[in-house]
Amino acid sequence: MPDTAQKKRIAIFGSTGSIGTQALDVIRTHTNLLEVEILTAQTNYELLIKQALEFLPNAVVIGDESKFDIVKDALSTTDIKVFAGEKALEEVADFDTYDVILTAIVGFAGLRPTLKAVKKGKVIALANKETLVVAGDIVMQQALQFRSPIIPVDSEHSAIFQCLVGETRNPIEKIILTASGGPFLGKKPNFLVNVKRDHALQHPNWSMGAKISIDSATLMNKGLEMIEAKWLFNLKPAQIEVIVHPQSIVHSLVQFEDGSMKAQMGLPDMKLPIQYALGYPLRLKNDFPRFDFKKYASLTFEEPDYKTFRNLGLSIEALKAGGNKPCVLNAANEIAVWAFLKNRIGFLDITAVVEKTMEKISFIEKPTLDEYFETDGEARNFAASLIKM
Ligand code: NAD
Ligand code: MG
Repeated sequence: MPDTAQKKRIAIFGSTGSIGTQALDVIRTHTNLLEVEILTAQTNYELLIKQALEFLPNAVVIGDESKFDIVKDALSTTDIKVFAGEKALEEVADFDTYDVILTAIVGFAGLRPTLKAVKKGKVIALANKETLVVAGDIVMQQALQFRSPIIPVDSEHSAIFQCLVGETRNPIEKIILTASGGPFLGKKPNFLVNVKRDHALQHPNWSMGAKISIDSATLMNKGLEMIEAKWLFNLKPAQIEVIVHPQSIVHSLVQFEDGSMKAQMGLPDMKLPIQYALGYPLRLKNDFPRFDFKKYASLTFEEPDYKTFRNLGLSIEALKAGGNKPCVLNAANEIAVWAFLKNRIGFLDITAVVEKTMEKISFIEKPTLDEYFETDGEARNFAASLIKM
């Protein structure tokens, strides 16, 4: 068994969320191999304190600066360094003292700290798909330049990554991302128009944070994942397909140039891709429940309903256009999803806000990082102006 010096030191950005807490579950069962170096949270200071007292990291960041004193006091008997505010995320991402960063922050806010970690040449266990959706060209170029490996945590991309192990000399013909279809699979607009937040938050197969749960219900999540896949695996839009697979057992597939397809399968449990990314290249032994064919009468696959779930079409448009279009799509979607979660707009309005914002914001073919930030701001402002507050 490796001694302490060889343990991988993990920084979890967004440790109080769905991915963050599951990552800590994984670390708890592999303390001989993994240890916690940094934890960050935006508002949930109580859970952050609890996690810090259990895992004794080197540093914690609480995003909400008004909670700094409470966190500092609660950890005063320890050596844990306490920081607060948005800038602090970048400061701790710049530390030398960790090996792997798990980017489990939700939304555009994940971009800056991830870029900082990339510039340090850290291993990036990437859950925050929005980072690649918004600025995939810059992130991937810098990852190459600074030799920062990016290991996907998103289950579909982890599946593809796993299928590609040992295939470095074999080009991909296409990939097929599986989609559960979300809680409204088979429903039509006359039903969706009346859908409320609590219903939309109930995903049939996965328990996730609020934003991605709504994205799964609108199929925007799959659209974002198509763009994420383009950057991770260097694919052309035509090489990326989506198929609905309601049981969420086949996590995604790769087809090679001989027509052979490889899939990665298992029960839907995010701890598996999280553990794979943290343990990579090792597969760590665990006692998670195993998939049993006898318990599944059938595994089914069907075409997505592009007419009803128009976010998929908008995502494909952004994927094909490139430039700042995916950034606009993402920003408008973030605003619309938060408005829906606050019961300010209806379910179908989410797509309308995204579509109108995509029409409005000027196209930039090859944006700089600053231009991505400007685009994000403009798109957010315009999307917010469409929503009656
Ligand atoms: P979540 O809402 O449960 O947790 C988000 C975490 O980020 C929390 O710790 C929160 O404190 C922190 N956070 C929120 N806003 C922040 C901000 N502005 N600045 C800094 N920190 C902030 O979200 P989640 O479901 O765990 O998802 C996290 C990311 O992982 C998302 O990008 C999501 O798309 C991706 N992802 C999640 C799942 C899943 O099963 N939950 C699966 C695949 C990918
Ligand atoms: Mg996914």
